[in-house]
Amino acid sequence: MSVGGLPHALRDGDQFAARVNGRRPAVFLDYDGTLTPIVDRPQDAVISETMRNAVHRLAQRTTVCVVTGRDRSVVAEWLGIDGLVVAGSHGFDIAGNISGRAAGGEGGETIQHHAVAGFEELLATITEQLRNQLASAPGATVEPKRFSVAVHYRLVDPAHRPLVTATVEDLLAEYPDQLKLTPGKMVYEIQPKVDWNKGQAVLYLRHALGVDGPEYVSLYVGDDITDEDAFRALKGPVNGIGVVVADLNDPEVAGRPTAADFLLESIGEVERFLDMLA
Ligand SMILES: [Mg+2]
Repeated sequence: MSVGGLPHALRDGDQFAARVNGRRPAVFLDYDGTLTPIVDRPQDAVISETMRNAVHRLAQRTTVCVVTGRDRSVVAEWLGIDGLVVAGSHGFDIAGNISGRAAGGEGGETIQHHAVAGFEELLATITEQLRNQLASAPGATVEPKRFSVAVHYRLVDPAHRPLVTATVEDLLAEYPDQLKLTPGKMVYEIQPKVDWNKGQAVLYLRHALGVDGPEYVSLYVGDDITDEDAFRALKGPVNGIGVVVADLNDPEVAGRPTAADFLLESIGEVERFLDMLA
């Protein structure tokens, strides 16, 4: 189906209600372009007061998760809503208070999930290895992070930089199936090589939050290509509902193939949709 051919989540309310079929919504929301307008500078993508209120009201009634490509802590701070689960880095990094909603969970329990579970030991091992090997490259800093190990070389004398590069390359060659490299500005970021996307994040969260039973329907609202992974994940036996946010005035967007089931045409409509669900 193309985006332009989809039924509308508000105007075709009967079709939408038929798909929900009396089930309780568990709502997964993208952030940029879904809760906030797309802006030139990413740091300007602050949520409006009315949208924040709409998300807040809904989060008081049912499970609401924000699944974003951004850093989790940044979005969590902007949203400033207690009880909301935020999955950052395309769901790579999930945390939030689940308020006892998870099956068997106790009140106030916090979930801390990341797709790199089981990699902690490897990350600790390579941190040690890098520190030893880079002792002869003055200025090099090895920074262990929650989901990666960063090797900073800004302060390394240019003559010693090839040693840093060779050390990192050798390490990656040692663990070709487990590690990958993301270069940055004067930094090598070594990350676990895992296949993870918003779709897998949503499937994980449905389970972790205890909303994967037949009495619940997972709704996912998003505007971007990475959200298509989530729309696809909700197909089939999961029987969820994907809602794509798209401006049909843009012919390229309208003609884009999508795995979503319904359409909303603006951020304003997303806000009305969230109010309708609440
Ligand atoms: Mg988006």
